[in-house]
Amino acid sequence: MHLPNTLPLAGKTAVVTGSTSGIGLGIATALARAGANIVLNGFGDPAPALAQIEATGVRAAHHNADMSRPAEIEALVAFAASTFGGLDILVNNAGIQYVETIENFPIERWDQIIAINLSATFHATRAALPIMRAGGWGRVINIASVHGLVGSVGKSAYVAAKHGVIGLTKVAALETARTGVTVNAICPGWVLTPLVQKQIDALAHREAMSIEDATLKLLGEKQPSASFATVEQIGGVAAFLCSEAANEMRGAELKVDGGWLAQ
Ligand code: NAD
Repeated sequence: MHLPNTLPLAGKTAVVTGSTSGIGLGIATALARAGANIVLNGFGDPAPALAQIEATGVRAAHHNADMSRPAEIEALVAFAASTFGGLDILVNNAGIQYVETIENFPIERWDQIIAINLSATFHATRAALPIMRAGGWGRVINIASVHGLVGSVGKSAYVAAKHGVIGLTKVAALETARTGVTVNAICPGWVLTPLVQKQIDALAHREAMSIEDATLKLLGEKQPSASFATVEQIGGVAAFLCSEAANEMRGAELKVDGGWLAQ
């Protein structure tokens, strides 16, 4: 397919962590439609995600870094630079969830969530910033959550990690404030992805209700719109953050939450 080089992100390279499914794949697809070459990352068979990105006409590659391992994260960033000749956009998206009260929270789950949802964002940003500074332009987009700004019962590790991501976003935005590199966070409410489907299934099982009723209950508890945000919408917001209109957005938290945090 011939790609017009008038696309806003033509010639740029984006790394999207955790992009073999869900929000990460939605963002990778939106950035690809805007013309960026994409490095996918994440577990599972990458072939369907690679095909989805390549169908837009850009180049795509997959790197299987485990985002809980700092050395592999460095290798992911180096892979992007060596494969496509640079790194312009980093989307820190990989994340996992585990729901349990603090007293019963398994210690290894805490460590894993902090490593993947928070520390990986530090390691990837640390490796990417020198490349972006050298290029004079860059975008770091951190996928936080409403849980970066408020808490929910049973989500201690996730909420702590996401609050950490918001703090890290602010510091990285300040440290790059006089450069062409911007750092911002997107804070989704409920988006229907495998991560959320697991929570719906657990609720249906726990309260002996249908998946449909569990879905309505989950949304009704927090999200006033009573509908999910979509991965395409989150992708659109990420593409906007890569546009010139967002040049002076630095350290922002963009809520895409159906009104969750307006309450
Ligand atoms: P998902 O489970 O669909 O996708 C997670 C991705 O991360 C997958 O590609 C998976 O392979 C990858 N991944 C998991 N552990 C990894 C590891 N150790 N190394 C590399 N890749 C790994 O989840 P999602 O709902 O799309 O979530 C994506 C991000 O959005 C997460 O940071 C999540 O916290 C955040 N988020 C999701 C929602 C929601 O409602 N779905 C809301 C707010 C924030």
